[in-house]
Amino acid sequence: MSAAAVILPGATLGVLGGGQLGRMFVHAAQQMGYFTVVLDPDPQSPAGRVSHHHVQADYEDPHALQQLAALCAAVTTEFENVPAASLSALALQSTGVSPAAASVSVAQDRAREKAHFVACGVPCAPYAVLETAEQLSAIQAHLLPGILKTARLGYDGKGQIRVKTREDLSAAWTQLGQVPCVLEKMLPLALECSVIVARSRSGQVVNFPVQRNLHRDGILAVTEVYEGNLSAQTAQQAVSGARAIAAGLDYVGVLCVEFFVLQDGSLVVNEIAPRPHNSGHYTLDGCDVSQFELQVRTLCGLPLTPPRLHSPSFMLNLLGDLWPIHAPTAGPLNAAPPWEKVLALPGTHLHLYGKQEAKPGRKMGHLNITAKTPEEARQVALEAAACLGIPAF
Ligand code: ATP
Ligand code: MG
Repeated sequence: MSAAAVILPGATLGVLGGGQLGRMFVHAAQQMGYFTVVLDPDPQSPAGRVSHHHVQADYEDPHALQQLAALCAAVTTEFENVPAASLSALALQSTGVSPAAASVSVAQDRAREKAHFVACGVPCAPYAVLETAEQLSAIQAHLLPGILKTARLGYDGKGQIRVKTREDLSAAWTQLGQVPCVLEKMLPLALECSVIVARSRSGQVVNFPVQRNLHRDGILAVTEVYEGNLSAQTAQQAVSGARAIAAGLDYVGVLCVEFFVLQDGSLVVNEIAPRPHNSGHYTLDGCDVSQFELQVRTLCGLPLTPPRLHSPSFMLNLLGDLWPIHAPTAGPLNAAPPWEKVLALPGTHLHLYGKQEAKPGRKMGHLNITAKTPEEARQVALEAAACLGIPAF
């Protein structure tokens, strides 16, 4: 099948990566009548376990990529650290691929990502690229205190060290193995938000409303979405910034753009994720079209319709910390955490990813809360959080 043709239900779609994002992509694709293939080396991967086919191999395994190309009309990815070369290899075999390797490779590298923000005219934190000892000594004082981030392979706050002085910076770079890094100025944040856009091959773009996000220990904890969760001006700026960033990449697929709102009210872009995002999980229950359905639609060249938030929504991440140590995760419903209490609250929607082992900081699932008003949604979200032992917000 040509890469540009519309791919209709009945065809087979592939996803590189078998985590929870892949699992929810598989659910959406299957609901629409597609067959699915997951490429992930882990036999217990959350997506692999629910997919029609699971190719258990490394993302760079040429034989596995050939197998994927033979099975699939189109392939997408669920995480940005998939080798861009694998996406290129699939595209060469005339398998439809979105997002394109070129877009993913920008998101994989913080230095290129920031250069792209600058090129699109969307402000980001003042930063410097750090690859050599000369660059280390030339770092300008106004970037301190700052955060040193590895240019590649960071997630959930991993690969980041906060630094106050030049001595800290030098020690931090050594600690990170002197790999290429970006030093970002530490900004006074008022709050964090994100926007998810979906862009088609023909350049049509739709977006979800702006999500307000609370992070704890570098990991997303709570997302809240309803009219008025942010000032109208900030929301509008975030949406136009996200659209500009997607258009500048000639992006095809679902893209999340994370922003900081500073204490003076200004908006600064943080980073992009070339895939559905944790801050968009509320769309599964709060919107008439989810971010995963839009991923399927963009991949298949199907029409995009603007998604509508039909209910004020909260999303609570369920991290492994909520499980008592050594409790079986696949046990009966009355095994902790107390799902039966949470599910007794109106408008709660439980999503678990089928992971076998709960570890601190590991994303095990999420709880969506929908209600008629933002106040009701917040009230239920706070009650659910209290039941689960999640700190109030
Ligand atoms: P993920 O990919 O899971 O979103 P990450 O590891 O890529 O996370 P970042 O998004 O870069 O990490 O940073 C994690 C968190 O650290 C941010 O959400 C924010 O709370 C804080 N942070 C990052 N950069 C800055 C900055 N320049 N100033 C102040 N706080 C920051
Ligand atoms: Mg982030």
